[in-house]
Amino acid sequence: MGQDRCPDTRWAWVEIDKGALRRNTRAFKDLLEPGVRMMAVVKADAYGHGAVQCVKVMRAAGADQFAVATVKEGLELREAGITWPILILSEPPMECVQTLVEHDLMPSVYTQGFALAYGECAAALGKVGKYHLALETGMTRIGVNWKDAVEFRRGIDFHRGLSCAGTFTHFATADVPGDWTFALQFKRFTEAVSAMRGAGIDCGLVHCDNTPATILYPDTHLDMCRVGVGLYGMQPAESTRPHISLDPVMGVRAKVTRVIYPETGAGVSYGLTYTVARQNTQIATIPVGYADGLSRTLSDKMDVLVHGTRCPQVGHICMDQCMFAVDVNTRRAVRPMDEVHYGDVVTILGADGNERITAEEMAKLRGTINYEVTCNFGMRLEKVYV
Ligand SMILES: *Cc1c(COP(=O)(O)O)cnc(C)c1O
Repeated sequence: MGQDRCPDTRWAWVEIDKGALRRNTRAFKDLLEPGVRMMAVVKADAYGHGAVQCVKVMRAAGADQFAVATVKEGLELREAGITWPILILSEPPMECVQTLVEHDLMPSVYTQGFALAYGECAAALGKVGKYHLALETGMTRIGVNWKDAVEFRRGIDFHRGLSCAGTFTHFATADVPGDWTFALQFKRFTEAVSAMRGAGIDCGLVHCDNTPATILYPDTHLDMCRVGVGLYGMQPAESTRPHISLDPVMGVRAKVTRVIYPETGAGVSYGLTYTVARQNTQIATIPVGYADGLSRTLSDKMDVLVHGTRCPQVGHICMDQCMFAVDVNTRRAVRPMDEVHYGDVVTILGADGNERITAEEMAKLRGTINYEVTCNFGMRLEKVYV
């Protein structure tokens, strides 16, 4: 393959396909009725894809607002000159209310003490502190219990420094079609919203859908959908795959830093757990390891792609490097495996020729979900935007 956009300092990198990100964003925007807003979730550095760059692409492709997990993530976006609305998806520590007000970062709110401290700070600075009320409807994670919504709002609404810009909840089982607890959560949520509205309380933008709910339940879009994983081209579950076509955004590549024909019987990597069994086997090294997000649990289980062909990764994955084997005699796929050379491009995640390694494949081998796979690759590898 022609990918060779390697950064100067290391022969390993994450490749972000901006065209795919743009297409995915538009695909979600197209699912929404006109007037329904899209909040792009860019927490954890946009699931490892680089939040600042992703926000710019997503905004141009139709995202209206953004969501992060932490105050620091919000600040990073503001410092990069991003001025669009940003929601922090949980209630931050009380110590940072001034930072929130100064940088116009909206916190999620679910304790009275935090809300009043935030309002107090905003008022002192001559501003109004916008927030979103989080409601607990059954996931048992965060939020004011749905039954207590009216009472909670009455306990903070007297404060002139506060303004409710939104009300939301989060689903525990949106990826399971027809799940009754999903329906129950939605019912509780809409009941709480009705109760607040009935009491003359302004709920702001009302939103509850994550990626799977946005895809599977059009009737629950309400005022806004919070889309995360789908924007990065990953299906949140098998159940959503038939409903939307998405293009993977992240690739991980490296170049071969060393390659040899070891003697038969040679062991590979820490513990020498892999033994070279046959002649004409190359052992090639690439500079990617578990500190780059290539989980050590993948050792001896995963494949890499070279010259469009799968090769088995062998031996324990090290912190910064790992090895793979090339059986030069074996006929794999459509043609004999070529010899691998110093500097050849290796694909760890993504496509090479007709072969592709997906985050889902890696997740399955690791016993986790695709979300974690891309988050992990965001840790240390340099990102190249193509
Ligand atoms: C992470 C998160 C989302 C996005 O979830 P996806 O499944 O990636 O779409 C939405 N809302 C909240 C509250 C979240 O924490």
